[in-house]
Amino acid sequence: MEQKKFKTEVSELLHLIIHSLYSHKEIFLRELISNASDALDKLKYETLTNPEYKDLQFDPHIDISFDGNEKKKTLTISDNGIGMGHDDLANDLGTIARSGTRNFLKNLTDEQKKDSNLIGQFGVGFYSSFMVADKVEVISRRAASDEVWKWSSTGKGVFNLEESEREEQGTTIIIHLNDEGDEYANRWALDRLIKQYSDHIAYPIFLSYDQDQYDDEGKKKGSEHKREQVNSAAALWRRSKSELTTEDYNEFYKSFSYDTEDPAFYIHTQAEGVNNYTTLFYIPSKAPFDMYNADYKSGVKLYVKRVYITDDEKELLPTYLRFVRGVIDSEDLPLNVSREILQQNRVMSNIRNASVKKILSELKKVSQDNPELYTTIITEFNRPLKEGLYSDYANRDALLSLVRFKSTEVDGYTSLSQYKERMKEDQKAIYYLAGGNEETVRRSPLLQGYKKKGYEVLIMADDIDDIVVPSIGTFEEFPLKAINKSGAVDDIEEKEEKKKKEKEGKDIIKRMKEALGDRVKDVVVSTRLVDSPVAVVVDDNDMSVQMQQILKQMGQGEVPDSKPILEINLDHPMVKKVVESKDDEYVKSMSIILLDSALIHEGVMLKNPADFVNNLHQLLSK
Ligand code: ADP
Repeated sequence: MEQKKFKTEVSELLHLIIHSLYSHKEIFLRELISNASDALDKLKYETLTNPEYKDLQFDPHIDISFDGNEKKKTLTISDNGIGMGHDDLANDLGTIARSGTRNFLKNLTDEQKKDSNLIGQFGVGFYSSFMVADKVEVISRRAASDEVWKWSSTGKGVFNLEESEREEQGTTIIIHLNDEGDEYANRWALDRLIKQYSDHIAYPIFLSYDQDQYDDEGKKKGSEHKREQVNSAAALWRRSKSELTTEDYNEFYKSFSYDTEDPAFYIHTQAEGVNNYTTLFYIPSKAPFDMYNADYKSGVKLYVKRVYITDDEKELLPTYLRFVRGVIDSEDLPLNVSREILQQNRVMSNIRNASVKKILSELKKVSQDNPELYTTIITEFNRPLKEGLYSDYANRDALLSLVRFKSTEVDGYTSLSQYKERMKEDQKAIYYLAGGNEETVRRSPLLQGYKKKGYEVLIMADDIDDIVVPSIGTFEEFPLKAINKSGAVDDIEEKEEKKKKEKEGKDIIKRMKEALGDRVKDVVVSTRLVDSPVAVVVDDNDMSVQMQQILKQMGQGEVPDSKPILEINLDHPMVKKVVESKDDEYVKSMSIILLDSALIHEGVMLKNPADFVNNLHQLLSK
């Protein structure tokens, strides 16, 4: 017998599983049945595509039995699927395959560790059996192999591997129930769990039990062994919509999605005609934990004529819809479709295009019919949908109606068309301010002039706004203009007043320009600042100062160093003091302080904070 250590993260996970309280411990059965079903899917696929398996007699099924004996209560789940060899057992049941899990575990707080939903969210799968077991044995025989191996563990740091026996290919899992799992060695409990969680599993699930026999006088005369199919064994997405309840849909979702919460909603499409396919998509109510990992796991499984093909194909939907979970089942694709074929296949691209359109239009419906639900959806998925704006031009209009923004006029989120409805009659553009965090953006002095005019400004504080929004260009004839660029300034300035001010400020502008040298592109008078002495903008074609900063932080090598334009408010007492001063040194120090403070106000980190502080101290001591 060999003894092996679990990988560290598995040990940690098992420790967590064994020592936490679970409100949903019964999900272990769903996880094990789902694994069995996957194993049957894999073998079915092999028998249809791989000549090596062509002669295999294969009658796929899952069997569940139990021993209710007080002293040794056990529960056994058995399948005749693909099975596992020695190395599969050691690897698959000794590590956690999903990338990101380790980090996820490391970052859990103690509070979160107690939350079984969180644990369920990344699918502890097989390991969940330790919620109800003090020992688990797995006896498995890989298809087309003679070797049989037994894996066993009490979940405490190590597992054992030894040779064993089993007639057919497949896997038997024997759970030695602990006190927590006591209740599952029972016909009715198992019957209920299978019906509730695994009814849709496409293979028959048999439950075996002994039924007591009585004679005519009601005296027990023995017992009879029974084996009954418990589930309906039809792929859920193939059943007609009218037969299915929301509960059926939700249970199915939880059985494959790594999510223990109900989805926000589902979209079931059965298409017939040029292309024949069925899709069942779910929008989760919480973002998958790996949504922002580069190596996120795809949430969509591909089937061909009900035969499972892959759950590891990211191209089934565009990247920005990576939060969608579900199934695509095509009647027209070949069974042995390879990844390369899949990516250029016309049938597949038709399904993909139609699916994207459908998902976006259903999202739109929800936004109109159920704004409250849509707010929860947008709180989780606004950002990926915004990514779609620059990656999916074909669906630009649909996406524009789905994305939401914060704004100076409303609490919560607004859509662009809601903004448009609120626009002032003389307003020529949709204004926005992006960059930095929401609080900083909301306090920018640049907003003052728009507030005075009654123009609403969209507050864009998502880090990708600065990249996405310029690509929108216009929305229903109205250009989107960043108010930290000079083009938007012209829209709200009073021309007459501006001319007057320009004359008035001629001298000070010259002096300040000299003082600031090449740190600025220009110094101009402003008629839009109200409470603030100064503000910075950039030329229309230049990159905003915040954007430059974001790109630099992201380590983008060549960031063009465009210089800001400093706007000054001649009515502000601080600026007045500069105007009145005859002391060139004073004008210089003040100019630098004003520029730096305007940058800080926009959330920009100064290159030389020490210079700023020295300057300030010198000035204050004068
Ligand atoms: P997941 O199912 O999310 O991959 P699990 O921890 O539940 O994670 O299972 C790990 C791996 O062990 C599976 O991916 C599969 O390769 C293998 N496995 C688990 N149960 C079975 C089974 N009944 N038959 C064959 N392989 C299995």
